[in-house]
Amino acid sequence: MTVPDATAAFSEIFGGRPAFLVRAPGRVNLIGDHVDYCGGLVLPMAIDRAVLVAGRGTDTGTVEVHSSLYEQRVRIPLASLVPDADSPWCRYVVGVLTLLRRHGVALRGMDLWIGSQLPPGGGLSSSAALEVGVALAALAAADSDLDKRELALLCRDAEHEFAGSPCGIMDQLCCTSTPQGHALLIDCQSLYARPVALRLGDTELVVIDSGVRHSIAGGEYALRRRQCELALAAIRARFPHTGSLAQIPIDELADITGTLTPLLAKRVRHVATETERVRQTALLLESGNLEEVGRLMADSHVSLRDDFKASCPELDCLVDAAMTVDGVFGARMTGGGFGGCVIALVRNEAVSGLRTAVASAYESRFSGQAEVLAVHSAGAARVSHLS
Ligand code: ADP
Ligand code: MG
Repeated sequence: MTVPDATAAFSEIFGGRPAFLVRAPGRVNLIGDHVDYCGGLVLPMAIDRAVLVAGRGTDTGTVEVHSSLYEQRVRIPLASLVPDADSPWCRYVVGVLTLLRRHGVALRGMDLWIGSQLPPGGGLSSSAALEVGVALAALAAADSDLDKRELALLCRDAEHEFAGSPCGIMDQLCCTSTPQGHALLIDCQSLYARPVALRLGDTELVVIDSGVRHSIAGGEYALRRRQCELALAAIRARFPHTGSLAQIPIDELADITGTLTPLLAKRVRHVATETERVRQTALLLESGNLEEVGRLMADSHVSLRDDFKASCPELDCLVDAAMTVDGVFGARMTGGGFGGCVIALVRNEAVSGLRTAVASAYESRFSGQAEVLAVHSAGAARVSHLS
């Protein structure tokens, strides 16, 4: 979707022209899943698919929002920021507006048109893109500003409080802070983030969408978080200095998890080994050692599948099919799991072979179709003021 498309769509709904356009990218996590809420490292990349918000400030005292995805328009009076009960997506918008106001931003009325290139619930983080897109629009209308890290934290808090999704910080920080051509190595304990140059050479990153939809507000995700909390509490009872599960050194794992139940010990092993894989992947990417990156991606999938039980038969089928293709360096589930997407690192010339292999393996076992999307690195969310 181009700027003229978004402008035309805005005009059709609201009349007149938008004053600004926000582009808030989705993301794909290259490696490091289910470690963000355990203080681990993650390595997401902002992608060239985004939520677009065309908007203008008004003096009506209301925020009028149209989502083209849901073909719904809602009216939110600034005097009482309450979500529209018939439009669940509106909770993200109201959440962000409420927290901006709490932060001291003097909100203005707005007309907002929201367009999207991100499948909702597909693991490419449409929710964070929506939050950041709306927040930047509200800041633009109020002629105000917020530091990128603070913006990410505010959006995450809005998702916790208003959508009931206990997400980590990765999605929002990636959306606000990743430079183009880079992934963002985020330490989820300190929130220190460092761009990592992507030296992909003659390879590309391909996302394969299983079409299976999850909700991270759903039971399995919350259960994994709870298991990690229980494991940390039990470990701290014996080793009070343990800061987070992600800090446990790999060579001390057996010792430290020795008295946990086998299930909790596996969860901890995933968190500690995945964090180490992320650390190595960042260095290997910077030095262009893509074969080793691929090997770590494959190991990551096995760990998420067997130790963390965050995969599902559809994702396993896609990863297995991808790994049979010559020129695929590695493939893994990405995001919260239990559905959603796989990411593969593939030589350019092998992408069409990957499409064929994935389609035939998937369609022979499951009723739906898996969609293969080439994704490219994009820059962080930004506002363009239109003349
Ligand atoms: P993900 O972030 O992986 O896409 P989530 O379940 O976290 O999945 O967020 C999806 C939710 O975000 C949707 O159910 C919807 O409420 C909201 N959302 C995403 N894109 C849009 C959009 N273009 N318009 C309105 N709401 C959206
Ligand atoms: Mg989300």
